Amino acid sequence: MDLKNLLDVLIEKNRSLISQGHVATYIPELAKVDPKLLGTAIVDKEGKVYSSGDSKVYFAIESISKTVVLALALLDNGEEEVFKHVHKEPSGDPFNSIKKLETEEDHLPRNPYINPGAIMMTSLIKGKDPDDKFNRILNFMKRISEDDTLTLGTETYLSEKRTGDINRALAYYMKGQGVFSENVEETLDVYFRQCSINVTVETLAKIAGFFARGGVLTTGERVISQRQAQIVTGLIATCGMYDQSGEFLDNIGFPGKSGVGGGILCPLPSKEIGVAVFGPAIDKEGNSTGGMGILKDLSDKLNYDMF
Ligand code: GLU
Repeated sequence: MDLKNLLDVLIEKNRSLISQGHVATYIPELAKVDPKLLGTAIVDKEGKVYSSGDSKVYFAIESISKTVVLALALLDNGEEEVFKHVHKEPSGDPFNSIKKLETEEDHLPRNPYINPGAIMMTSLIKGKDPDDKFNRILNFMKRISEDDTLTLGTETYLSEKRTGDINRALAYYMKGQGVFSENVEETLDVYFRQCSINVTVETLAKIAGFFARGGVLTTGERVISQRQAQIVTGLIATCGMYDQSGEFLDNIGFPGKSGVGGGILCPLPSKEIGVAVFGPAIDKEGNSTGGMGILKDLSDKLNYDMF
């Protein structure tokens, strides 16, 4: 069976898992998304895209933007500076938890993929004002995905801004502890916008492919260093799937970064392949139920398991 046919089969096989999840409702705009959507895409070593299901549907990138912003923060500041502001350890707590910010002695976020860590990374992005910083993030995302169609989902952004008080609490807590030096409201404005960028599952597979190739575009042009790509992907493996990160790595066997919009981005560095799924029905940890079924099948059938 060729890859396209396999993806078609896996979409149908895993449709039944959709009913085990629900669309995210804590961001009102996400509650309007059709829970029945399901799509997947793979980008091979040469950059060829294979996809199936709802692969052309745009949805909010949400937490998956944290991988792209980490890459840009590394480019802007270098590894040493970035990791003065955030650790590299899984938190074991929900993505928006304030617990460890309070209990850890240095009050720094545990990793760049939980909300306080991601807000910290956004604060490190260079630019003269929030618009400039956001445009740099959007343009960087367009560049590494080689996808010019990406735009801001204005309704999602406004919805997040209106309801994002837990994120405000996290940022103000860090500021109050003296570990966050930027303007909180301006940084959150950029953060809410980066989460609201509209992508397709094909875009995500292309970003995954970029990280899997070690930071090189399909044209051969290098955008970030091998080391920077390694940091982004290594942290995806250990901290990418909320409270299920350990189980995901054990069960699926390759790195995955999910978002509450229903996307999961999976770079497979050993094969230089990018894999992605999209299914807005998510489980209580925040991970797409249908999407995880497809990833498990791909892992088994194509021998993608790293272990
Ligand atoms: N914008 C969302 C938030 O900050 C992202 C959450 C996610 O996808 O995990 O709550």
